[in-house]
Amino acid sequence: MIAERIKYFTEALPQGVKLVAVSKFRPVEELQQAYDAGQRIFAESRPLEFAAKVQALPSDIQWHFIGHLQTNKLKYVLPHAALIHSVDSMHLVEAIEKYALANNLKVNILLEVHVGQEETKDGFTPQELLVTDWSRFCDPSSPVHICGLMGMASHTDNRERIEKDFSLMQSLFAKFKQVYPQMSSFTELSIGMSDDWDIAVRHGATMVRIGSSIFIG
Ligand SMILES: *Cc1c(COP(=O)(O)O)cnc(C)c1O
Repeated sequence: MIAERIKYFTEALPQGVKLVAVSKFRPVEELQQAYDAGQRIFAESRPLEFAAKVQALPSDIQWHFIGHLQTNKLKYVLPHAALIHSVDSMHLVEAIEKYALANNLKVNILLEVHVGQEETKDGFTPQELLVTDWSRFCDPSSPVHICGLMGMASHTDNRERIEKDFSLMQSLFAKFKQVYPQMSSFTELSIGMSDDWDIAVRHGATMVRIGSSIFIG
């Protein structure tokens, strides 16, 4: 049951690795069960579902957003999100900045990097990530805080391939830190899901995003 799986991950994850419970498409009752078992970080991938669950569940939950975010849906997500993992383009970064300024919000984001082999995945390429000038986000008064990187491994059973993808994420994370040592918000590496979280932990994950292993099984 859900409570046992929350307990399993809480014990299996090393200190300093946060469990993000991916509750997309699951009914509120199941989230409540996870909450009652002590889980406080939940992640959703659809703006309207996100907004509805925020209203329906206890107010001390830390809500994360992990889905593709269209700029016309920011109003459903930004006021309630503790962290947006899936910021996948400069266009979206700029729209979030504009919204945050206009609404007097501080928004915490991760930059999504495309490291998997799939063609269609959103995200910055490693090259784009490293050539872009992010220095304005070092200013603590910036309305947007870049809190780290998010990545998904290739969709494959090949553990070596996954290892490579996460290893690249780990080195991009280190490189970015080196280039922007003044960016004090930059601390999180969100990699790892139900099938590959153990590999992610070995490559420096500070957050793992677990859905099916908590809510189905
Ligand atoms: C659905 C989803 C997850 C969780 O995947 P599971 O394999 O169910 O653990 C993690 N990250 C993102 C971005 C997702 O969309």
